[in-house]
Amino acid sequence: MSKYSAGKEVLSYCGKCKLSLAHMIVSMKDENTLGKVTCKTCNATHMYKDPATKTKKVRAKKATGRTRAKSVPVNELWTEAIGKASGKAKDYSIREIFEVNDMLDHKKFGPGIVQNIIDGKIEVLFQHEIKTLVHGVK
Ligand SMILES: [Zn+2]
Repeated sequence: MSKYSAGKEVLSYCGKCKLSLAHMIVSMKDENTLGKVTCKTCNATHMYKDPATKTKKVRAKKATGRTRAKSVPVNELWTEAIGKASGKAKDYSIREIFEVNDMLDHKKFGPGIVQNIIDGKIEVLFQHEIKTLVHGVK
């Protein structure tokens, strides 16, 4: 016996309420597949949407956004940059002058590698983030 049948209650994602809510089963596609459901909150009738599937999709999207913002690419860049970098790390100081590919040691952020020089500032790749720092301040 299927645990689902028309007239029973089921948790489904409601596209109108944008939430996983209690729905009343209106029809079944087959014995084990839910068909249409009615949202008990807004009374809309729509196809059953598995709340677990919906949640997973939303989470995946959010994770991708976060990844694009930092972490994974930075880690990859870091691994690549550390392989290419040579020489001894200089202690970071705003008075010191740095060049692209210079290694530095920042008191707060740790070891870093200069990636770019933009408008007199250095873009430094640290293990977990990229920071723009001033240098050559007299
Ligand atoms: Zn609803």
